[in-house]
Amino acid sequence: MKKTFGNPCSRCGTERIVVRTWKEKVDSSIIINTETACPNKECQAEVDKINKKQQERSAALKRESEKRLQSRKDNSKKNKESKKKK
Ligand SMILES: [Zn+2]
Repeated sequence: MKKTFGNPCSRCGTERIVVRTWKEKVDSSIIINTETACPNKECQAEVDKINKKQQERSAALKRESEKRLQSRKDNSKKNKESKKKK
C-alpha cells in the first residue's frame, strides 16, 4: 500500500491517520473520500472543537446576512404600506 504523506495535523503536526474511506459518485465519476484524524485523541478532540466553532461561526454569519436581507425586504414592504396609507 502506498503511504500518503503531507497531511499533518493542523494542531500538533503529527501525520494524520485515515479513520474511514468511502466512495462517492460525483457526476459520472466515483471519487474516494477519506476522513483523517490525529492519532492523538485529545488533540483530535481539540481540532474537532475548533472545526465546530468555525462551522458555527460561518453558520451564524450566514444567518446574519439572511436576517439582514429579510429585514431589508420587510422595510421595503413597510414603506409600501405607509405609502398606501397616505
Ligand atoms: Zn494533532
